[in-house]
Amino acid sequence: MEEDNQIPVTLRQPEDYVIPLVPRTKRPAEQNWPNSRYWFNDEVIINHLSNGGNVGFLTGISLVMVLDIDDDSVSQLVNHYNTFVVKTGSGKVHIYFRITDASDEELRSTILKDRNGKRIGDIRGIGAQVAIPPSIHPNGNRYTELNNNPIREITISRFKEIIKEIANINTTQSTSIEENNEPIPVTRVSRSEMEFRKIIELIKEGKGKEEIYAFMTENYEKWNERDERSRNAYRNNTYENALRSVEEGKKPTPLKNIKVNPGDEIRAKSSILDMTSGISIITGYNAFCPVCRGQKIVHTKSKLTCHDLFREEIESGERNGCLNEKGRPVAVDFEPIYETGYMISVYDPEDSGNNMLIVPIFIRNNIIPEAYQAKKDWEGDLLIKSIILDSHIKVFPQTKKIVDWYLYVDKYEFEIKEEEIDFKLLRRFGNIKRDKEFFEQNFIQDLYERILAKKTNALVLLSPLKVLLPNGKVEWGIINSIEIGDPGQSKTYLAKQNLKYTKGTNSRFVSVENSNNRGLLGSVVRNQNSDSWTVKVGDIPKASNAMIYLDGYSKLSPEDMTQFRGILEEKIFQISKAGGIEKECPVRIIMLGNVVKPISQYETKHQASFDMGSTESDYSNKFSGPDRRRLHHILVVADADTDAKKVDAHILKRRPVEMKDIEKYWSNLRAFAWSRKPDDFIWEENILEHVQSLVNSLRDKYSSFSMLYGILSKGGSKMFAIQLASVAILHESFDEKNKVVIKKEHADWLYNLYIDEFTDLGLDVENELKNRYKAHVIAISRKCPLEVKNMLHLMYKYGGNQSSIERAKITNRMQINRILNQIIEYELEYASGTKKHWYKLNEGSGENREFTKGNFMFFSDNDLPAITKKGSSSLTDFGRMLVKEISNMKDSKVFEDKIIGIPGVDVTTVTGVTPLEEKSDKKLKEIIQSNTKEIENKKKEVCDTNNPVTDVTPVTKGIIELNNISTEGVTDVTPVTNEEEPPLFEEDNS
Ligand SMILES: [Zn+2]
Repeated sequence: MEEDNQIPVTLRQPEDYVIPLVPRTKRPAEQNWPNSRYWFNDEVIINHLSNGGNVGFLTGISLVMVLDIDDDSVSQLVNHYNTFVVKTGSGKVHIYFRITDASDEELRSTILKDRNGKRIGDIRGIGAQVAIPPSIHPNGNRYTELNNNPIREITISRFKEIIKEIANINTTQSTSIEENNEPIPVTRVSRSEMEFRKIIELIKEGKGKEEIYAFMTENYEKWNERDERSRNAYRNNTYENALRSVEEGKKPTPLKNIKVNPGDEIRAKSSILDMTSGISIITGYNAFCPVCRGQKIVHTKSKLTCHDLFREEIESGERNGCLNEKGRPVAVDFEPIYETGYMISVYDPEDSGNNMLIVPIFIRNNIIPEAYQAKKDWEGDLLIKSIILDSHIKVFPQTKKIVDWYLYVDKYEFEIKEEEIDFKLLRRFGNIKRDKEFFEQNFIQDLYERILAKKTNALVLLSPLKVLLPNGKVEWGIINSIEIGDPGQSKTYLAKQNLKYTKGTNSRFVSVENSNNRGLLGSVVRNQNSDSWTVKVGDIPKASNAMIYLDGYSKLSPEDMTQFRGILEEKIFQISKAGGIEKECPVRIIMLGNVVKPISQYETKHQASFDMGSTESDYSNKFSGPDRRRLHHILVVADADTDAKKVDAHILKRRPVEMKDIEKYWSNLRAFAWSRKPDDFIWEENILEHVQSLVNSLRDKYSSFSMLYGILSKGGSKMFAIQLASVAILHESFDEKNKVVIKKEHADWLYNLYIDEFTDLGLDVENELKNRYKAHVIAISRKCPLEVKNMLHLMYKYGGNQSSIERAKITNRMQINRILNQIIEYELEYASGTKKHWYKLNEGSGENREFTKGNFMFFSDNDLPAITKKGSSSLTDFGRMLVKEISNMKDSKVFEDKIIGIPGVDVTTVTGVTPLEEKSDKKLKEIIQSNTKEIENKKKEVCDTNNPVTDVTPVTKGIIELNNISTEGVTDVTPVTNEEEPPLFEEDNS
């Protein structure tokens, strides 16, 4: 969200008001605008601006007069007046003055004339308004502040002087600008221009050259007036020019090259920025002569006579113009033609410039599908596809300036992108292994190593849309991945280089940071004036069927994130308001992001990958487990991975294959992959069984990560299988009909990629760590003193939350610390012999020292962590394992709710785990919530077993139920003292 709405600070005075203008026009958006009163910070204005609307400043009412000057020679003197000045979108100036002593009469709007009486602009006062920054002129330019001076306060007499000065400055010819409310004349065309258009019409009708020549000779005298040679030359010329014009007309004109000439036919390619349905506009006028009743459709209302209207017919003698009783030509009447349809803002998809031209187009309802579902589908297509439209330039009849134009669409078609594939180019590397060396040399050659990233980027690039699996099901074949890491890892470079292989497609690089608040996916905004919905579409749906790099995805807004998940999961782009737009939107996505701390500060890359986002505030948006599981690959790249010397050596190395060739090869292979139909894939016999065994092997190896990686979770086999299409294409595995042949060896290749990926993420290290932890956990749990066991048991119940234990008044923090600070000594059997270890629950084995005690040498295990995380009460992995182990050691009696007192703890009056006064629902819920998942599971376990609760006091029963403790045989719970309480555990290490 932008905090600043960009309205000039100067215009933010309490007495100054602004109004919403129709986007990209100078027209008020509200009918009753002269009576509107909005401050710059009004929600209406802020929303309007954020939806791309323009804003106008109400002149007159706050004593502010604006000189709207059309003359360039005056514009140059603006600084002279030391007041606030705005440069308009058309390059002219608005000069602001606040008049201190004017009457209402003197604040009226009038025309600004030069000394010869020629109009050079307007004086805007009461009842008028002027567009202000950040409005956008219909020509696409923004209104900007030329300075940020305050509005100068002057007297009315000084103001009149200034007007005189300006009138005298101007001596140059002013451009012709129509009066307010005065109609625009219909563009007059010369006679030969009219003839030229007639020839074009005939060519379009399919008339042949001879036929047209005959027509010319017959209808246009001037071709007969001359001698035969020049007559023929003239005729040839006219015909050839017309023919060329027709041919060129078939090719779309780039929008920014359109010459605005009302009535001209334009064929243009465009992409949609936003659309509003159900808009009624005047698309033209029925002009008719009240005398002869002859009529014609014209673009604009203008002063026309019957003679003007039927000029062509009168000249060719078909008709006589009507005269009134005074012998003057009769003025024609106008009837507006209303049409309802879609008003759409479009841009040229090939215009990637910063100053992109946005053009309004109008598609009337009767050329779009009628049926509800078909219409929704059509709207969806409109949002994500480019269209080629055949249209006419028209001007908005309500406005006075000729530049205020739009394209009236006669017909349109959705652009179908078909790439040519060079099948000979498909086989270049043959049986060469797609190994480290291959990727180093042949895929984004000038990027050093980054092999894992190169491999997965190539797979995403080469993934076909849909694949028919051997089980007979058609599945999405597209691959999505994520790449996170330290800054400066050439992630963006790799992305932009890879995108070179997707030229001519809708693929793009999108930075979340730079995208504005219209959202990356799309949004719907209600237009309060027209009561209609405007649908805006974002960058991601526009990459439909193609590939997108999404940089800084952790900054996605929550709404965008929700839609983004939909695209990742269902490949559906959805806008639920405004009747609902739902469109299939398959996009190959590679997400890029930075990790909060340097990766080297984490134990493994896997752990680092949970800290996504480049700033602290991004924490809230980080990917959840289900989000991670939707991705095919998760990569983490770290600074430590790159070797500066090797990078240099690589850059200086001569490459066997030229860059251009490489670009051509991958583009072609990619185009081939993207154009494959689902049944263009042939699967080796029994390959799915092979896939299953590979995936099982991965799952066995990394069993504790099944909730974090898609390939290891349920459905992982399918995720694995669909990628094989891409792997086979990478290996140029094609038969003679260019069908893709998927083999078991491709599955092996992918399996090895995953092994590399998981090894790089550090899953092996974590696995190994867990095994080692296990040995220590068992030893510690057997050797620790009884009071420690009891404490660990309490920690099990409270999820390691010491505050909860304290709140439950079982014991206090001091006692907890005393118990957890004991040194536990134990020994482990190694191949090399027995080693003595020691451990402190509160600190781990963090003290890096070895010591002898008696006959023994004690080793430090300085990587055994404490049982709780530093600065928080939650358990570490190690702590969780230890606590769990202790709880598993219990004999059945232990868990009967007799715990309570803890020998050696100075607690005398404990009646249960949870004291009486604390069993209010709220409190218990709080305790439960603060506990870990283990407790939730335990609770479920208890609820599911048929352990009848018998014979306990109501109080205890309540406690027991809520604390998930098996209650078999519990008879009563009475206050206990340290002396009376029997030990919970037998000393099993004596
Ligand atoms: Zn007439």
